[in-house]
Amino acid sequence: MDRISIEIVRRRTTAGDTPTQLDEELHWRHMIGNLGNKLGHSRVLYGGFLLSAYTMAELGELRYDSELSFKSLSTSGDHFEVQDRTLLARIKETIQNEMECQVCWGLMLDPLTTTCGHSFCRRCVARLLDHANSCPLCRKQLSIRPGATEEPSNQRLRALLESLIPDAVLARAEVVEIEESTTSDRGRVPLFVCGLSYPETPTFLHVFEPRYRLMIRRAMSGDRKFGMVAYNGRGEVQGDLGITQFMQCGTLLHIESMQLLPDGRSVIQTKGVSRFRILDHEMLDAYYVGKTERIDDIPIAAEEALEAAEISRFTTQASDPGSPNRLLSAMSTAELMQLCADFIERMKGASASWLASNFLQAYGDMPNDPAVFPYWFASVLPISEAEKYRLLPTTSVRERLKITAGWVRKVQGMSLGGMAPSANDDDSDHNEENDSQEMPDVTESTDRANLPTNGPSALT
Ligand SMILES: [Zn+2]
Ligand SMILES: [Zn+2]
Repeated sequence: MDRISIEIVRRRTTAGDTPTQLDEELHWRHMIGNLGNKLGHSRVLYGGFLLSAYTMAELGELRYDSELSFKSLSTSGDHFEVQDRTLLARIKETIQNEMECQVCWGLMLDPLTTTCGHSFCRRCVARLLDHANSCPLCRKQLSIRPGATEEPSNQRLRALLESLIPDAVLARAEVVEIEESTTSDRGRVPLFVCGLSYPETPTFLHVFEPRYRLMIRRAMSGDRKFGMVAYNGRGEVQGDLGITQFMQCGTLLHIESMQLLPDGRSVIQTKGVSRFRILDHEMLDAYYVGKTERIDDIPIAAEEALEAAEISRFTTQASDPGSPNRLLSAMSTAELMQLCADFIERMKGASASWLASNFLQAYGDMPNDPAVFPYWFASVLPISEAEKYRLLPTTSVRERLKITAGWVRKVQGMSLGGMAPSANDDDSDHNEENDSQEMPDVTESTDRANLPTNGPSALT
């Protein structure tokens, strides 16, 4: 506002002989409360309507909610419009410069004024709060709730912006909207680099890193979805992507519920929607976004054809249903599922710690759907992440069940004297067990192990 005053003072020196009659018309509230004086102030001032109105307000003779009528007293009939237009143009320019947000350096959008007296765009305040709870200009503590959704806008600033430079406000809003929608517009999925998640399966997250707070806020204001990818801890090459910080395949998660903590952290509960493979990636505001393709299972008819073709390749000896070392590829998909289900039953009977009630509370009871079962199994079975990751790129239910049946065989092999099943058990064409000769690490405590009792699992 100081800049406007400076501009006004400058104009006054060139006001010249430009008399204008100004009459204040009081708001009815003042007329009721001020019975003795129903009339407003009257003045003759100089410099055109704008300048003289400003002067009148400065003199304390123009209430904020009063109307003002004016009449030129010029003997030549001049209404001083040129002066008004010039001054208005200067004020608009000043306002535009003055209303720049010190965070985004753009025109302030939906301005919020903090208790320390500094004003920023609402969205900028929300972003600030992701990082720290203090004003970026004066470092004073802010008392604004995370997300900055509940704070009232600064109505004076808003009115000033919207009445004086509506076009600039609109243009700025459009730019911001485009910025905010870039993730969905370009078909890119925001990537949360953390751990493994699966379709139809819950994942609980504790979100505290500023970049992920922003990502989750954006997801919440959009379709509530984001991609979960595990860390590429071993630095393995991820297809065409080369060595990336994250694994190439992940799961799209839908945010089912979100609990925002007073300090801006949040706890979210999500459910897996579908799997994807990352084709390309880039950074957006310090987090990754990826161009992805969906990974789907082959149709049921193709699944059945695959099953029939595999089974027919084996001799009766290799597929002897009575043999404990029967090749997994010689088994029907239903038999693979049964093998896993029997194992779960036996483990429940033996009170395996990973089937404790708190796990089942989080992940539910064993699903009977063979397509979903492997995801549930991977969520509760304490084996290495590398083993679990093998489920994500699969394109058939059968392929997934062979992987999980392989885990069962290995865990059983361990409990039968620490021996892995013989190499003969592997179907070399399909490599269901060759990929990982190491024994599943049943003692490994995965991030999920802490889940239901200690709160959220994966930490950002
Ligand atoms: Zn801003
Ligand atoms: Zn401040």
